[in-house]
Amino acid sequence: MSHIIHRNPSQTIPLAVRGEGCYLIDTQGRRYFDGSGGAAVSCLGHGHPKVIAAMKQQLETLEYAHTSFFSSEPAEQLANLMAQQSPPTLGHVYFVSSGSEAMETALKMARQYHVDNGELQRHHFVSRRQSYHGNSLGALAIGGNLPRRKLYEPLLMPTTQVSPCFAFRYRLAGESDADYVDRLGLELEQTFLQLGPETVAAFVAETVVGATSGAVAPVPGYMARMREICDRYGVLLVLDEVMCGIGRTGTYHAFEQEDVLPDIMTLAKGLGGGFAPIGAVMASDKVVHTINAGSGSFQHGHTYVGHPIACAAALAVQQEIVDQQLCAKVRSSGDLLARLLKERFAHHPHVADIRGRGLFWAIELVQDRDGNVPFPAELRLNAHIKKTAQTHGLLCYPGGGTLDGINGDHVLLAPPYISTPEQLAFAVDTLAVALDESVHG
Ligand code: PLP
Repeated sequence: MSHIIHRNPSQTIPLAVRGEGCYLIDTQGRRYFDGSGGAAVSCLGHGHPKVIAAMKQQLETLEYAHTSFFSSEPAEQLANLMAQQSPPTLGHVYFVSSGSEAMETALKMARQYHVDNGELQRHHFVSRRQSYHGNSLGALAIGGNLPRRKLYEPLLMPTTQVSPCFAFRYRLAGESDADYVDRLGLELEQTFLQLGPETVAAFVAETVVGATSGAVAPVPGYMARMREICDRYGVLLVLDEVMCGIGRTGTYHAFEQEDVLPDIMTLAKGLGGGFAPIGAVMASDKVVHTINAGSGSFQHGHTYVGHPIACAAALAVQQEIVDQQLCAKVRSSGDLLARLLKERFAHHPHVADIRGRGLFWAIELVQDRDGNVPFPAELRLNAHIKKTAQTHGLLCYPGGGTLDGINGDHVLLAPPYISTPEQLAFAVDTLAVALDESVHG
């Protein structure tokens, strides 16, 4: 009997004992292709020798130094590298240990910016339905993932959600991208006006939506319009790239493909690549200079902020991404993955949409393509696909509630950047088998 509070106590899951490249291996010696990198985490796969060597070396040199006493070499070098990979005005980094912590930190930083800017009344956060920003209370409060919020609703600070930019489901028939952007822009502006725009602290959005709806990229012009509206009312733009950042969509930051600059952004999964728990907030000159000139310092902190071993791991992961030009590799492998998915599923009776960027793709499932009717939620099709795919040696990341938190199913693929064409083909073939067995089985 396990003493762990497992995610699902009624389910027995295998024990993973080894990781090798794109594979995880269990106690029975079964090998699983990590087609989703867990939850879009393992961008370099498993057991990467350079990352392991960097972590060992750091462990033998300095395992921990509290950041109120010392900075550390790996933290400084990692922040330098991240600043070099970012636009010049977005060069300030605050390290944490997870995506949720990064989001909590981003919210507090946005609030402090306004206070230090003399606008003490700004405290409202506006975010979007069908988004996920983490499971801690602040992150959950701005999240639009209904099932994850439901139980904790009485504990959550009040926030306001606007519509997602989810063209496949919510662009009206006959509506152009430009008209859709106009409509969503109007909704955001009206929301600010209703709240009192002088009280709004930030608009928070995932640049490309991950787990909640499945690799949903914004339509052209959407992010730039949201930026314009934020600027008009002095509201900060906070982009959550915890899942879609660090090369996952084919550029180091996902926002590079949107022609916008956030004031604050969050990163986590691909930062440490699973080798260590680490997340980060990156902030603009405007935000950091205002805070430093106001209170003098950011009023925040955790014991493990800037942990040297986590930073050494992330530094080695980031160096590998830069040195091996993995963003370019993600773009070319992503083209292949897109082609394989379209060849396999474009005419599939239960696949309504195939979408994504880079190595971040999803298929959305329907019972009936006529009208794109989802499967009944109680079938829990996504859970069946996850289990069936795993028995066939594929790890993928299905989700439910794609449309509105309750209805709809999708499957997300986010394979390691080092995946070979054969491995990508295996992932697509096996997903097709798992889908058919789950629907008909
Ligand atoms: N933001 C996004 C977009 C995420 O996908 C996640 C996790 O899946 C989080 C935040 C929270 O990250 P963590 O699970 O590391 O706390």
